[in-house]
Amino acid sequence: MIQLIRGFKDILPGEVELWQKIEREARELLERFGFREIRIPVLEKTELFRRSIGEDTDIVEKEMYTFADRGGETVTMRPEATASIVRAYIQHKLYAPDPARRLYMVGPMFRRERPQKGRYRQFYQIDAEILGVASPLADAELVFLLTSLFRRLSVADVEAHVNSLGCAACRPSFRHALQEMLASVSDRLCEDCSRRRSRNPLRVLDCKVPECRAALAAAPSILDHLCTDCRRDFDLLQNALAALGVPYVVDPRLVRGLDYYTRATFEIQTGALGAQSAVAGGGRYDRLIAELGGPDLPATGFAIGFDRLAEIAGLNPEELRPQPDLFLAALGARARQAAFAWYCRLGERGIRVAMEFGEKSLKSQLKAADREGAAWVLMVGEEELARGTASLRDMRSKRQREVPLAGLVDRVAAMLTE
Ligand code: ATP
Ligand code: MG
Repeated sequence: MIQLIRGFKDILPGEVELWQKIEREARELLERFGFREIRIPVLEKTELFRRSIGEDTDIVEKEMYTFADRGGETVTMRPEATASIVRAYIQHKLYAPDPARRLYMVGPMFRRERPQKGRYRQFYQIDAEILGVASPLADAELVFLLTSLFRRLSVADVEAHVNSLGCAACRPSFRHALQEMLASVSDRLCEDCSRRRSRNPLRVLDCKVPECRAALAAAPSILDHLCTDCRRDFDLLQNALAALGVPYVVDPRLVRGLDYYTRATFEIQTGALGAQSAVAGGGRYDRLIAELGGPDLPATGFAIGFDRLAEIAGLNPEELRPQPDLFLAALGARARQAAFAWYCRLGERGIRVAMEFGEKSLKSQLKAADREGAAWVLMVGEEELARGTASLRDMRSKRQREVPLAGLVDRVAAMLTE
């Protein structure tokens, strides 16, 4: 028997209702704040991700699904959404006449990581971006939306971590201080960090290897190096969050794994996930649009790990299970034919319908109706056909009433929707 590929998964009925609920809530919330959906391709030119995510990242170094397509072009299955959204923003000139755009997308991402709990090779993200807006209020809005969504989904034990990564003016001085510190602990760093230490020292702060984390205990804080503008923006972000009552902690170790981030950076962490504690991450990437050949415009965004969110949402999947309003139980071929027409018409009228197509006893059909949680059962057999009525049974009260066959669809639809 052929099984699915390691690190990939099916989302089956029973679980999928939770995914649908999360997606519905996210779309509703984002659209209320003016975010519009964008759908981007799964496959892009590899160059797009190399340039936007950066060569020294885990993603580009070892996680991308990259292959030559039959025409010889090197293509990559998207490992994240921001690069593609920015490409589309530039390519379709979505910045004109007004650069401010709120965009979101929901869909699968692909990274060839070591599969483990909370880490898949195809996973899903809910991604939101505010392009063309420099104000730290945009960052505050994103953190607010994340915490608001998680609250609506009854996620417990979440904490927003915020930091500033500085800008081209002030980051170099931090980078220098960090590099000096890293030189002094170089023998304790993992292989990746030893390599990145000189080329991209900020990445070392992001390393998950416990020995590296320990070695970094004495690392300098970027917050001691912020320039006046970055300091002001970081204060504005914090003041906005405080005024909204959004709980947050300042976490000077928080850096994003991607090259294009500047200033505000944030992550939503939860104790409910064990080692994979980040359920969403994001921040400002003021340099990416220009770096990808577009105008010099700022932007900020987040990505939620959908799989992880589904794991920690405090919703009862049993309560989300769709249940039929009406189960049609027919006995005999003629009755089944009549019932089938009602089934189609009532479904079309907005009633959730279910029906047994085979020849089964009334008892076993009632049992099936009960199992599926049907609120009503419409019963019809030869006898009812001859009498010109069908029986409608309320499964809760067990009370039954007769419904004339003439105009049955209208009558039942009216009774069930009132
Ligand atoms: P991590 O630190 O867990 O590796 P990341 O920094 O690589 O995360 P981002 O690129 O910021 O993650 O993606 C945003 C979110 O997507 C993460 O916070 C996480 O919830 C989710 N995510 C990332 N990689 C995976 C994966 N392989 N499987 C499931 N979810 C993932
Ligand atoms: Mg990762």
